[in-house]
Amino acid sequence: MSNEATMYLQHGNIAVITMNNPPVNGLSHALRSGIVAGMMRAEADGGIAAVVLIGNDSGFSAGADISEFGKRAMSAEPSLPAVIDVIENATKPVIAAISGNCMGGGLELALGCHFRVVHSAAQIALPEVKLGLLPGAGGTQRLPRLIGIEAALNMIVSGAIVPAPKFKGSPLFDQFVDDKLQDEAIAFAGKVVAEAKPLKRVRDLKVRHAKPDAFFLFARNMVGAVSKGYPAPLKCLEAVQASLLPSFDAGLKAERDLFAQLMMSDESKALRHLFFSERMASKIADLPDDTAVRNIKSVGVIGAGTMGSGIAINFLNAGIPVVILETKSEALERGVASIHKIYESQVAKGKLKPERATERGALLKPTLSYDDLSQVDLVIEAVFEELGVKQAVFEKLDSVCKPGAILASNTSTLDLNKIAAFTRRPQDVVGAHFFSPANVMKLLEVIRGAKTAPDVMATMMKLAKKIKKTAVVSGVCDGFIGNRMINKYAAEAMLIVEEGASVQQVDGAMEKFGMAMGPFKMGDLAGNDIGWAIRKRLYVEHGAGESTARKQLIADRLCEMGRFGQKTGAGWYRYETGKRDALQDPVVDGLVEAARKELGITPRKVSAEEIVERLVYALVNEGAHILEEGIAQRASDIDIVYIFGYGFPVPRGGPMFYADGKGLLSVVRRMERLGWTPAPLIKKLAAEGKTFN
Ligand code: NAD
Repeated sequence: MSNEATMYLQHGNIAVITMNNPPVNGLSHALRSGIVAGMMRAEADGGIAAVVLIGNDSGFSAGADISEFGKRAMSAEPSLPAVIDVIENATKPVIAAISGNCMGGGLELALGCHFRVVHSAAQIALPEVKLGLLPGAGGTQRLPRLIGIEAALNMIVSGAIVPAPKFKGSPLFDQFVDDKLQDEAIAFAGKVVAEAKPLKRVRDLKVRHAKPDAFFLFARNMVGAVSKGYPAPLKCLEAVQASLLPSFDAGLKAERDLFAQLMMSDESKALRHLFFSERMASKIADLPDDTAVRNIKSVGVIGAGTMGSGIAINFLNAGIPVVILETKSEALERGVASIHKIYESQVAKGKLKPERATERGALLKPTLSYDDLSQVDLVIEAVFEELGVKQAVFEKLDSVCKPGAILASNTSTLDLNKIAAFTRRPQDVVGAHFFSPANVMKLLEVIRGAKTAPDVMATMMKLAKKIKKTAVVSGVCDGFIGNRMINKYAAEAMLIVEEGASVQQVDGAMEKFGMAMGPFKMGDLAGNDIGWAIRKRLYVEHGAGESTARKQLIADRLCEMGRFGQKTGAGWYRYETGKRDALQDPVVDGLVEAARKELGITPRKVSAEEIVERLVYALVNEGAHILEEGIAQRASDIDIVYIFGYGFPVPRGGPMFYADGKGLLSVVRRMERLGWTPAPLIKKLAAEGKTFN
């Protein structure tokens, strides 16, 4: 009665059902069926007195099997609630033997057992809220019965991972063990049988709270405040509150209904999309998963400016030694000091232990000599954004670095293929486009040059995980995926201001939509000079009359006045010394008014809906071009870039997913009404009734 995902063995009068569905014992259809079959066999066998349900080396179970998401197997019988029903209603005691991860459906399964023996290193969680859902197999009803309403609500609303020993003394766990979990669980089962202990069905327990109404009133305010208008956290609360209903089954029904509502919510659809998109992004379409990678044990960083020092910190944090190079000692000292300052501030805030900071700092070797780079496995260049400077650096690297070393550039706008051609080893050259601040931002665009070797790409994707970045592959083009799209977005924001909206209105509308900050505040933070430099180049390359490079009068004048943003104390807003609050500035209002006059524009009222639509669709249209050209591998990669690199609201799933939700036909129609030319890919997909994702 074993199948490929479960094993049934007999130890005396105890049956042991082992779950074995690598890598994390996801509760696949085969696993669920195997458990039910094992339970039926144990029930039917007069020689069996109790059952132990145990996981494998990876732990008990991390929950649903994500490879079944969206497939029929996911909901095929026996469903998880049905499996739990069989266990809870068994006539013989069932003991869960819990180690490693016991999460989501895995924890709900354990809660259906009559007893729980747990390894002290195990950890539990109900993380469904992170996908905009709630635990839908009785978790919201059984957990409060074991650890109390408050602790259960905390776990369910936060999705946090909690070490099992935190619940020592509660009825959640019957016994803690430090070793030999299976033997101990079998011994425990033997004792239950010998002492003829009654079956403890969690559903029969009562939920207790001294003042439940007052508590839920308070909790609703707290949860409401942090849920930012998204439905899952409050539905979690409602489900937990239903555990107070007089009948367990009524509570269970309430949980099921709330779960079904969340399954259909836009928020959950978006979060599930991102969950899979992030996993997908690390895969390179034409590269097998087992492509050999190069071993990266040491890293060189060229340039200790804003980006170089942030980049270095990523590797130091991962325990990888870094050699950081500058041409002048003052610049080197400044860069090294800024790295140490970041560690000091983390220590001061209690985020990092002092000895860890010392350890990490000790991995940094500052240098002025290229000789110190002869043995590093990877170099990341982050010098000034000028092709001539890059050329000098890459020629030098080519002459000093060992064969097989990967040579990466952090350039944001320059042609990576040109940079690769400065060396005699273009196959080893790749782009590693970090985002500022590089030690904080999760996104890394890995730029694949025309000649970049497959194993170099595979190495960079793997290394990204090691330094805790979410990497997305981009082909070579102006601005790569993220900045190429953001330039269209910023240009559209400018047009909207020329037409009649204020800078504050545009930022306000986008922030209300959920962007971390509006386009003008973002410009002030990143530095308006960056966009200006790009525009000046485009005016020359395309001529200022062309739509792609239409002169941005207001933005250009702002920069001519030296208003580069926060760093100069003024940009689209003014800033008081030492403060980051963006204050409205009459100077900017004056610039806007003058530009409108000059352009012969009579200002009109622009609604918040129009602002959001035009700015998001500007991203979408360029994203479609990027897909068509093969610069991005898949639409979901673009969504990941925007979520992790540009503060696009997570519960909206990214710009391409957002457009899918609106329906591409309606997106095309809207673009045409705006007088735009929709990218051919959008028109094609819309005509075929398809979506990007
Ligand atoms: P930065 O001016 O802060 O730092 C550049 C550093 O390089 C300076 O410390 C300078 O002394 C040093 N340098 C210049 N020439 C050098 C040489 N020949 N050898 C060694 N060191 C040299 O600039 P940054 O903002 O850190 O940008 C660096 C690179 O990163 C650029 O290519 C930029 O386009 C890219 N980038 C910047 C950002 C950002 O937001 N700042 C984001 C992504 C990528």
